[in-house]
Amino acid sequence: EHMRPAEAAGTTITVANFKGGVAKTTSTVTLAQGLAMRGHRVLVVDLDPQGSATTLFGVLPDAEVDHEHTAMLLFSGEQEDLDYAVRSSYWPGIDLVCAAPLLFGAEFALPARQTRDPGFEFWRCLDRGLDKARLDYDVIMIDTPPALSYVTINALMAADGVIMPLPPSALDFASSAQFWDLFSDLCNQLIRSRGQDKTFEFIDVLLSRVEPSDAASSVVRQWVLEAYTEKVLPIEIPKTSVAATASAEFGTVYDLPRGSINARTFARARDAFDRMCELVEQQIVAVW
Ligand code: ADP
Ligand code: MG
Repeated sequence: EHMRPAEAAGTTITVANFKGGVAKTTSTVTLAQGLAMRGHRVLVVDLDPQGSATTLFGVLPDAEVDHEHTAMLLFSGEQEDLDYAVRSSYWPGIDLVCAAPLLFGAEFALPARQTRDPGFEFWRCLDRGLDKARLDYDVIMIDTPPALSYVTINALMAADGVIMPLPPSALDFASSAQFWDLFSDLCNQLIRSRGQDKTFEFIDVLLSRVEPSDAASSVVRQWVLEAYTEKVLPIEIPKTSVAATASAEFGTVYDLPRGSINARTFARARDAFDRMCELVEQQIVAVW
């Protein structure tokens, strides 16, 4: 099998797209669970103030999450390392940094700090805050809000790789191109202002919620393949009621007991996520 060099650790994968409802959270949490099932130590960092990933891990953002359970203290400058916020989850091998609406405060705290201290690099706050976690985890999965916010920029700049989930719908496709361009411009600007290199090992598009029988989505799927060419991952997540049922029960396809739902559909959904996990695993090993 793959030998991992001792100095490398904590491959950081940010799941981002400034559209909502494209399966960012579903992809983040399902991949985290699949990678943990394959024996990797995983940290999930929820950076969406809506706290959907947090909710999928059974923690209620409104009732059970305070500043010290989220990245807020890191962004406000009260803490320099994110390890204060890490808690264990019910899922073996996965630790969690939660999110809650209070994380919106980061959108004010980060620019305020930048104004007070021009030497402060707001976009590197999370990157630096993950230094310790990179030694403790094999993979760090970051879920982001549906916006190109200060927090999302932090998540992108901390990443070794970016996965952009994209359902084959015309409007999602149109806005994904804008996200992609803004994201590349931004990285180039920040790289220039830092005078050093931030390379991404991979930036991949994950076709999500694909309905093979739907004519309109087949057309857009083709546009996606033509626009993003080799950047499109060779595995597509089918649109399936199994995923929807799982999230209605605050879980993922890996939480559902086998046989709890039509066996064929279940197998198809599980299979797609299993193969996706294997693919991401190969990417992680490639980064090592
Ligand atoms: P985002 O984080 O981008 O806003 P979510 O992961 O919350 O998106 O997914 C949006 C909705 O789509 C959720 O209700 C989720 O259950 C549903 N969903 C995600 N993936 C699938 C899928 N493969 N098939 C059907 N529904 C899905
Ligand atoms: Mg989400």
